[in-house]
Amino acid sequence: MTHPAGASSATPALPRSGRAPHRPLAVPSVRLGGQGPLGSWQQRNADATIDHLISNLESSGVLDNFRRVIGESGAGYRGFVFADSDLYKTIEAVAWEISRSGTSRWDSWLDQVIELVARVQEPSGYVMTWIQGLHPEKRFAELEWTHEMYVLGHMIQAAVALDRAAGRDDLLTLARAFADLVDRRFGPGREDGICGHPEIETALVELYRHTAERRYLVLAERMIDLRGHGLLKVGGLGASYFQDHTPVRESQHAVGHAVRQLYLNAGVTDVHLETGEQALLDAMHVQWDSAHDRKMYLTGAFGSRHRDEAFGDDYELPSDRAYAETCASIADVHWAWRMLLAGDAPARYAETIERELHNALAAAVGEDGTTFFYANPLQLRPDRFSEENAPRERQPWYSCACCPPNLARLFAQMSAYVATSTERELALHLHADAEIDVPEHLGGGTLAVSTRYPDDGAVHLSYDGAAPLRLAVRIPSWSSRSTLDGDPVQPDADGYLRLELSGSRTLALDLTPRWTRAHHRVDALRGARAIEVGPRVYCVEQVDLPDGVALDDVMVAEGAPLTIRSDSGSPQVSLQGTVRSPSSAGLYARPEHPSTSGDDRTVDVVAIPFASWGNRGSTAMRVWLPVI
Ligand SMILES: [Zn+2]
Repeated sequence: MTHPAGASSATPALPRSGRAPHRPLAVPSVRLGGQGPLGSWQQRNADATIDHLISNLESSGVLDNFRRVIGESGAGYRGFVFADSDLYKTIEAVAWEISRSGTSRWDSWLDQVIELVARVQEPSGYVMTWIQGLHPEKRFAELEWTHEMYVLGHMIQAAVALDRAAGRDDLLTLARAFADLVDRRFGPGREDGICGHPEIETALVELYRHTAERRYLVLAERMIDLRGHGLLKVGGLGASYFQDHTPVRESQHAVGHAVRQLYLNAGVTDVHLETGEQALLDAMHVQWDSAHDRKMYLTGAFGSRHRDEAFGDDYELPSDRAYAETCASIADVHWAWRMLLAGDAPARYAETIERELHNALAAAVGEDGTTFFYANPLQLRPDRFSEENAPRERQPWYSCACCPPNLARLFAQMSAYVATSTERELALHLHADAEIDVPEHLGGGTLAVSTRYPDDGAVHLSYDGAAPLRLAVRIPSWSSRSTLDGDPVQPDADGYLRLELSGSRTLALDLTPRWTRAHHRVDALRGARAIEVGPRVYCVEQVDLPDGVALDDVMVAEGAPLTIRSDSGSPQVSLQGTVRSPSSAGLYARPEHPSTSGDDRTVDVVAIPFASWGNRGSTAMRVWLPVI
């Protein structure tokens, strides 16, 4: 059997209050096609990634960790304290896949694992295998490290997704029991407690949205209110590591562990969407500017430091030492989407999501769908050693396996990020090959978007409704010459082009390759340029250079002509570079000493999308090219 088509609520982050101007569409009502990458990623996720995750949940010990609590496994506990979350993220990925395709392929697996969780759960509602199986004395006693509420957060998100997507509430019953236990212990008027790893905040708001039980929203709000008052015991990392150094409404900078900061911000924005509290949104605008105007990599990645998996200082953005954890970009998609729903500047948030999807997150998965990057540097030197979490090549799994199942749940729910409806129009935020069911209040019918974007800038729009569809299509800021049926068009001040669409029209976005420079304060990128085409960042790999030419000796002239080559697949960019002899100068020299021995020579250089790098062996790579 297959599941019935998902209900209109089958989508993540569906605000309960009518305050948010933008309303998400249900996952099944946005059917991504195979002409563009989003649909292809989603299909690969269904065909390869989810089964790979399920098999690794077994082999990495995640499921045995549950079984050993009830005496059904003699294995020792394996993995990090928060390993249970790998299971819940995988369940969430399955849930959104059910919503998308109606598949029943994993129903019996769901039966088994949910029944296992049910047997491990204590009558109190508590279920967390590291505590139950190894350290019962630490229960709610070391919230800075135990990740109990973080694990509950992922359990809640999986449970809500499964009920929304498949009308299946068995996991929801378990998750609510655990959430109720946390509410009884840490709710208003009770013990003060917050989790060292934010996540539960956004999850509790989802639980409120799904159940209409306001106490879950109150609990989320309380955890945000309590943050920044030194509740968490500070170890060597300092309170800023888990954003407990300053109250949320007063925070000025994105700091500490990048994933924690960005999940926290998603939760704060969720609370704003429900309560309308302006101070929270104001704080999020300050956070947004800090994270995106001063600390984001060109690829849409975050976290400049391996140490503490942390944000760096403003403009501290080294390419080679970038940590750029996959989960941080996922967390930022979640946050950006919630900011978009709040409605003040949707184009900004949509363009950020697009940058993250087509660059950092596309590159985080191999073409096979079963290998993954955890760290996503923008330069790989030829002699670099693999480090824990920062290997030279994508790995099938990690000892800390947070990223692979996080990618799977994101790709499975990705249809939700393509468009929204407002009272008066349908807003198309991502240019994806898709069929979109238009909400009845906008006329019903289907909007067909046919495109190979971003391989091609043509976006064909057609609508079959009885009356014209009021459509707002985002025009990306980089598209310097956009046309509609061949005529130049300009978006409104908010970055959206408004149409009354009946029949078919073709929007063409400008995919002329372009050079990009960094702000002068980014020391690591001074004197370097990157190539971008549409939403994609490009890179050069050693494998595309002639024998005897080392990538790190290739320099480019300012403004060197860029030529698109699109014989097949994603377009490549051709340019001429200059090869400088590595022996032409010492490591340091007087400024007046020539940096070249005069034997510079030209070389043909091919740049490929960063999204595709690392699929042809472990080869040196760089995004930013030094200017000669
Ligand atoms: Zn991760």
